[in-house]
Amino acid sequence: MAKLEILEIPDVRLRTIARPVEAFDADLVQLVADMTETMYGAAGIGLAATQVNVHRRLLVLDVSESQDQPRVYINPEIISAEGSETCEEGCLSVPGIYAEVSRAEKVRVSAQNPDGSSFEEDLDGMHAICLQHEIDHLDGKLFVDYLSPLKRRMVTKKLEKQRKISGQKPARAVL
Ligand code: ZN
Repeated sequence: MAKLEILEIPDVRLRTIARPVEAFDADLVQLVADMTETMYGAAGIGLAATQVNVHRRLLVLDVSESQDQPRVYINPEIISAEGSETCEEGCLSVPGIYAEVSRAEKVRVSAQNPDGSSFEEDLDGMHAICLQHEIDHLDGKLFVDYLSPLKRRMVTKKLEKQRKISGQKPARAVL
């Protein structure tokens, strides 16, 4: 396994719209393993392929407290959503920034496993929020896109300040 480099804003590659996964082969299994290792290594609870510069529709997540229940969603699609929930989100691609975002409270997702088999699943809580955040990545969207222009300017300034202090790493990391 290998840890992959995580893209950070304002890298324009984060804005790429990912294409469906078509080959369910050994390379895909390896990519899933590498993404999972990269997610754990960065103390994240979710990682989309877009964030490691692979523009295919897959993501990994682990919302368990023990961080030992990795999940894989290939070609995920939200087929129904209900309710609304606001949660403070962070992102491995937007280091050190946290902001409240509203998303659907419950979602039903269809996706594929690394062997190509299909499944559907009902999600709620952090699992639902994380999945929506990661699917946004596959569509080239970031959580800061949901913020007001004023709040976005504050985020940009904070990021610039952080970059000036070289080597500074965020204390927390979320999705
Ligand atoms: Zn993210």
